[in-house]
Amino acid sequence: MMEWETVIGLEIHAQLATKSKIFSGAAIAYGAEPNTQACAIDLGMPGVLPVLNQDAVRMAAMLGLAIGAQVAHRSVFARKNYFYPDLPKGYQISQYELPVVQGGHLTVDLEDGSSKVIGITRAHLEEDAGKSLHEDFQGLSGIDLNRAGTPLLEIVSEPEMRSAKEAVAYMKKLHQLVVYLGICDGNMQEGSFRCDANVSVRRKGAPQFGTRAEIKNLNSFRFVERAIDFEVERQIDLIESGHKVVQETRLYDPDKGETRSMRSKEEANDYRYFPDPDLLPLIVDEAFIEAARAALPELPDAKKQRFAEQYGLSGYDAGVLTVSRELAAFYETVVASLGSEPKLCANWVMGDFSAFLNKENREIADSPVNAEQLAGLLRRIQDRTISGKLAKDVFEAMWAGEGDADTVIEKRGLRQITDTSAIEKVIDDVMAASPDQLAQYRAGKDKLFGFFVGQVMKLSKGKANPQQVNDLLMEKLKG
Ligand code: ADP
Ligand code: MG
Repeated sequence: MMEWETVIGLEIHAQLATKSKIFSGAAIAYGAEPNTQACAIDLGMPGVLPVLNQDAVRMAAMLGLAIGAQVAHRSVFARKNYFYPDLPKGYQISQYELPVVQGGHLTVDLEDGSSKVIGITRAHLEEDAGKSLHEDFQGLSGIDLNRAGTPLLEIVSEPEMRSAKEAVAYMKKLHQLVVYLGICDGNMQEGSFRCDANVSVRRKGAPQFGTRAEIKNLNSFRFVERAIDFEVERQIDLIESGHKVVQETRLYDPDKGETRSMRSKEEANDYRYFPDPDLLPLIVDEAFIEAARAALPELPDAKKQRFAEQYGLSGYDAGVLTVSRELAAFYETVVASLGSEPKLCANWVMGDFSAFLNKENREIADSPVNAEQLAGLLRRIQDRTISGKLAKDVFEAMWAGEGDADTVIEKRGLRQITDTSAIEKVIDDVMAASPDQLAQYRAGKDKLFGFFVGQVMKLSKGKANPQQVNDLLMEKLKG
């Protein structure tokens, strides 16, 4: 069997979280009434001039610093010319030869626990186009220019990913980073973070890359994985049946699970890039870069490493807890509030707490149980007021709004029984009620120990301290 190698490079568009557009003062307001958020500049009226939004540059610089790139002291905006109804000027302002961010890399965590460094070629600033609306217009198309002029940062990777899973891991890592940095809301459904995937295949060991296809506008991690997997199969089939891959742009159809040709290289646009005469070169001085550096939060990798060291957590746990700044902050508040046992805190934040959030699709900010309240519950496990098992019921009640841990424990009478004589009393009752099992146990049927534990826990409504039950039973069953 012939061995194939997949080669993938991603171009990711992150919509920058500025208040206004990149070259005008119009607001960015997703979901607003069509054509209410576009001013004369966004509409491409004659005689108007673009003015660069400094906040977009600051955000680009933050990304550059976070990926170890060069933030260019001088970069240039260029016109990318093409005709499309949602592009009123007839050109998109982008950066071409001299982008604001050059080089850089991202360390990506793979499923097998290893990591891989993926090179980043560049990141450039550009404006988004408007949107064509194809529904509700009886055979015509509507145009909504609210999105026109929205700032985008296009982040271009080196062709260094070797599987769909690696590509998804890279995309997730970049997504996490831009959201951490606060430069992008990361909302993929609304198109704030989307990806064009360049895919080719070659025989293992071949000195050169194969011809690539570019799959446009993938807006979910799942689609990226499926589209690439489909495309790899398609290209391998083509070559193995004696055909050639043609360089082209393709679209992924999620309903059919396949990619389709959109335009081939011959039909490709010649964008006739040239420097935009309406915009001066972008000059970024050292002070500006230093200010951006000072605004950087603790980055995901650094936070993960600190969590592992400071709290004695595994790399896996540290990774889960630092997946977002919000979850990490929540965890740290629980630990600070409890004051000990960071591993117990980790188990609860990653376990029941996250499970309840996910189940109800809630943000941490509107969780019904806050960090101090969760710590309050853990304190009652620690001081053995309740068992870890009953704590799950208490947590559920807290989530349902029944009050804090102590209130629920009192109200429901869940306080753990740690009084030896009380537990012994229950054990005596159980032994008296099960003479056959007792005889069998004493005749050597050790397995029945579990039966007695179960009976004692049942009779005590789960409240007997499990460790004490074990110890006392061991003694008493001996006779
Ligand atoms: P273009 O200017 O046509 O967009 P680029 O050279 O900028 O092309 O590359 C765009 C993306 O395609 C980059 O992410 C790059 O890593 C990727 N790429 C380039 N060649 C290949 C290839 N043969 N197979 C897969 N990806 C590729
Ligand atoms: Mg490109």
